[in-house]
Amino acid sequence: MLKSKEYTSTSLSQLGEFGLIDHLTQHIKLTQKSTIKGVGDDAAVLEVKDQQMVLTTDLLIEGVHFDLSYMPLKHLGYKAVMVNLSDVYAMNAQASQLTISIAVSNRFPLEAIEELYAGIYLAANTYGVDVVGGDTTSSTSGLLLSITAVGHAVAEDIVYRSGAKPTDLLVVTGDLGAAYMGLQILEREKEVFKVNPQNQPDLDPYAYLIERQLKPEARKDVIELFKKMEIVPTSMIDVSDGLSSEIMHLCKASKVGAKLYEEKIPLDPAMINVCEEFKLDSTTITLSGGEDYELLFTLDQKDYDAIKGNPNFTVIGHMTEEKEGAHLITRANQQIKLEDRGWNSFEE
Ligand SMILES: [Mg+2]
Repeated sequence: MLKSKEYTSTSLSQLGEFGLIDHLTQHIKLTQKSTIKGVGDDAAVLEVKDQQMVLTTDLLIEGVHFDLSYMPLKHLGYKAVMVNLSDVYAMNAQASQLTISIAVSNRFPLEAIEELYAGIYLAANTYGVDVVGGDTTSSTSGLLLSITAVGHAVAEDIVYRSGAKPTDLLVVTGDLGAAYMGLQILEREKEVFKVNPQNQPDLDPYAYLIERQLKPEARKDVIELFKKMEIVPTSMIDVSDGLSSEIMHLCKASKVGAKLYEEKIPLDPAMINVCEEFKLDSTTITLSGGEDYELLFTLDQKDYDAIKGNPNFTVIGHMTEEKEGAHLITRANQQIKLEDRGWNSFEE
């Protein structure tokens, strides 16, 4: 997995830009009824009746956001789509269309770009969204990938960061910190590989963590669950930068405080084991790690019965009056102030 892949190489210049676009878009099948026109005109045409549209975009740059020495191109394509879909779901909206833009240097042959798009299309098909446009161009060095996602929902269903009330429950989906620890494993193996390229690492014990890093899944299922349970969170955000800063975003936008209970934070056993191996504190990792792509939301207490006992959800705390601030309550019952970036264990 860490070895760079050998491609039979077809140079991109053989196809030209239009040839490349035709090649990459030839198998698109549109499935969303809101897509009136996809690829093939000057612009895509979308139609959504009586609903509001949500739009989000993300730019990923080689060497800044991803490292191709351990990130296979197919995974990169898949993950880039997930990052965007996760933001659409964080608005409690259904994702429906994507545009894909890439800039590539001549270091990448056609076969490498095909693999990137294989990941993009796998994600789009799995989540039922249409690829309706984009752009390809050359770059002087490296790979740059920008994805825009469109979604929609009726106005009453859209959830902002700003709706939390002081007595609401604070709830998170899935488990946290695994993607960050997966990255630590991959970074470590990359260093081992540099010293000894013959070394074949046994990554089996870390499979879950590496999968969370390389192939995250956006929580479309949770949005569908909300609909089925007939609940609408009061505020929501996706966990891309670590729990601490995401809680702070909700507090700031909603003008409330929060109490987060350390003992409630959901952790996978594999994540706990690897934290011990790396001598890292698992709570610190969940607070300041990142890339979990879970949903963090607040819920009116009257809706507690709907989520009670459901393994997708963990109540990790509750909101408070703004003047009380945002704090972590440790297992030892200490109160520690949460910070925008990570947490400061020396305060109070
Ligand atoms: Mg987000």
